[in-house]
Amino acid sequence: MTASATKPVERQLPTDEARELLALTRDLADNELRPQASEEEAAAEFPREAFRTLGRSGLLGLPYDEQYGGGAQPYEVYLQVIEELAAARLTVGLGLSVHTLSCHALATFGSEAQREKWLPDMIGGEQLGAYCLSEPQSGSDAAGLKTRALREGDEYVVNGTKAWITHGGVADFYSTMVRTSDDGPRGISVLLVPADTPGVSGAAPERKMGMKGSPTAQVLFDDAHVPAERLIGQEGQGFGIAMAALDSGRLGIAACAVGVAQAALDYAVGYAKEREQFGRAIADFQGLSFLLADMATAVEAGRALYLAAARRRDAGLSFSKEAAMAKLFCTDAAMRVTTDAVQVLGGYGYTQDHPVERYMREAKVLQIVEGTNQIQRLVIGRTLTR
Ligand SMILES: Cc1cc2nc3c(=O)[nH]c(=O)nc-3n(C[C@H](O)[C@H](O)[C@H](O)COP(=O)(O)OP(=O)(O)OC[C@H]3O[C@@H](n4cnc5c(N)ncnc54)[C@H](O)[C@@H]3O)c2cc1C
Repeated sequence: MTASATKPVERQLPTDEARELLALTRDLADNELRPQASEEEAAAEFPREAFRTLGRSGLLGLPYDEQYGGGAQPYEVYLQVIEELAAARLTVGLGLSVHTLSCHALATFGSEAQREKWLPDMIGGEQLGAYCLSEPQSGSDAAGLKTRALREGDEYVVNGTKAWITHGGVADFYSTMVRTSDDGPRGISVLLVPADTPGVSGAAPERKMGMKGSPTAQVLFDDAHVPAERLIGQEGQGFGIAMAALDSGRLGIAACAVGVAQAALDYAVGYAKEREQFGRAIADFQGLSFLLADMATAVEAGRALYLAAARRRDAGLSFSKEAAMAKLFCTDAAMRVTTDAVQVLGGYGYTQDHPVERYMREAKVLQIVEGTNQIQRLVIGRTLTR
């Protein structure tokens, strides 16, 4: 068995254009991502070229306006593209989600002049973005960030350390949350920092449990001079901008989780049909088919939940609580489904000869990024009781 032995998910899509986009994505995933995913992940190879291919195929700016080179697609379509990519290789699916997140501040809160100047290159494929919120001392308590931006004339001088940054050291721009005053969350602002700014550098990548092909690194700011025209929104608006981006970003993480879970399920089903014990395929044992049934149900429930939240977003309704629910449910489901997939393969599942142990390691990080699942429960709980 190979990791490419999957049959396409039958999707409900709103338009012919969306169907074509998903077919194109599936083609890219099958031919350019899935075949080498296990090998490149083991070697911690960052697939930079894959992001250029996504850009050239029009898949790097799907939710953004056509006027800036985006695809003007609803979130329900964009997220299913992410799901397909993540099923083939999480590093790419999550990388697309993070790239979209890093464009969100400019696309949503930037001035018209700023958008016209920078957005086309950011979503056209040649540039890759990173979203810099976390710091060594402030993760869940994101408003505790200390990276300081001091206004000097028509520049900001930035000093501090961002931590855990996806694409840290390989990105072309950093959407960076900085402290412009000591007024808690109201003292935070957003700067769009070109990665080649003198004084900006990436540290050595973290040595992670999984998703090793996706570099995660500290980004260091050492007297980096950033033009004041790169302030997005007003000074002090940054925390709200960062949280708004995360509402959408969490839907991307939910879609990634469903993709990884679907890949694990497909692999487990294929294996269970081939592997024989006691003279019959293990899939014929009810004890095992019930496990597969629970896995499949979790995948479908996760997909339905993230799509429901996406459709609220597409309809202009509030979706913050629903995005947190989708992130929480889908990533917990992915952890369970991938762990069960290892169980279906027995001892073979515990080896690197099959991709399910990689899926299990990948699922874990999705319960942590863009707000841990404890923080999602805080967000959901607050909306119920405030
Ligand atoms: C692979 C990877 C990629 C990442 N990419 C990015 C990125 O691109 N950009 C970025 O800005 N950040 C990124 N992060 C950082 C990520 O968002 C943080 O790791 C996460 O928010 C948690 O912060 P922390 O690691 O400091 O944990 P802490 O905040 O120290 O939390 C430790 C534990 O305490 C729990 N906890 C904390 N506060 C509460 C509370 N109030 N109630 C209940 N439990 C609580 C947490 O849930 C967790 O279990 C990435 C992280 C990883 C691992």
